[in-house]
Amino acid sequence: MRIGDLTLALVNGGNFRLDGGAMHGVVPKTIWSRLVSCDENNRCEYATNCLLVERGARRVLVETGNGDKFPPKERAIYGIDHDRSVAVGLRTIGVEPSSIDMVVMTHLHFDHAGGATRRTPASLEPVFPRARHVVQRSEWRDATHPHERNRASYLAENIAPLEAAGLVDLVDGEREVAPGVRVLPTPGHTAGHQSVLFDDGCGGRVLFLGDVVPTSVHLRLPFIMAYDLDVVGTLESKRALLARAADEGWLVVFGHDPTTPAARLVRDEKGEVVVGERLALD
Ligand SMILES: [Zn+2]
Repeated sequence: MRIGDLTLALVNGGNFRLDGGAMHGVVPKTIWSRLVSCDENNRCEYATNCLLVERGARRVLVETGNGDKFPPKERAIYGIDHDRSVAVGLRTIGVEPSSIDMVVMTHLHFDHAGGATRRTPASLEPVFPRARHVVQRSEWRDATHPHERNRASYLAENIAPLEAAGLVDLVDGEREVAPGVRVLPTPGHTAGHQSVLFDDGCGGRVLFLGDVVPTSVHLRLPFIMAYDLDVVGTLESKRALLARAADEGWLVVFGHDPTTPAARLVRDEKGEVVVGERLALD
């Protein structure tokens, strides 16, 4: 899809399943189950949406999905689909991973950083060997010093090979990381979480939300994942970001929504931000 000077392509880095209760926080199942279906183990199915943004010859990829390194036990727990990965998805649309100039990750949980590295017979290596990998410094610190609550989400196999190859650029706070590409701190899910805002060169904006609003269902302000380390932080990040996105007509991309990957937002009669127009980005 073309928007202004940008060409956007959505690549699914693989579906997976997460506990429906954990995904909706304090919202009871009697309410969320009217909006999302779940399997016999109470798991809901999600995509790992990655966004390729091309401007001229420059290629920026936001997120890398789950990757394909999971052992059978984790694949079963999370229902991880290894048939798709961001590298396979990119090749399907004619884009070689080695042609990516920059990878921006909202945070380093395995469902966002897993596709950044792959296993080789001897070791692990980066999937995007030419790309600078942009992450908030605080996120990098937390990911490399995990505690009991977040240890299952931060896997060294997704992170250490990038550092060993000298491909990591750590940033502090809001910053333009390439012409027209700005990272916005949106703390809550993790302290170092960032969203990514693209200027289309013609007055429009494209916002990759990340896990501050993982699906269109989570546009509702009280719908906040139980995974989030700072729930009120997410609430405030989300309130501020959605107001700007709706009032300024931004195109937004949801990182985990399998059916509404992107949308334009509007305000309903109560003033709440809701989906105005769904977009597939293909
Ligand atoms: Zn996630």
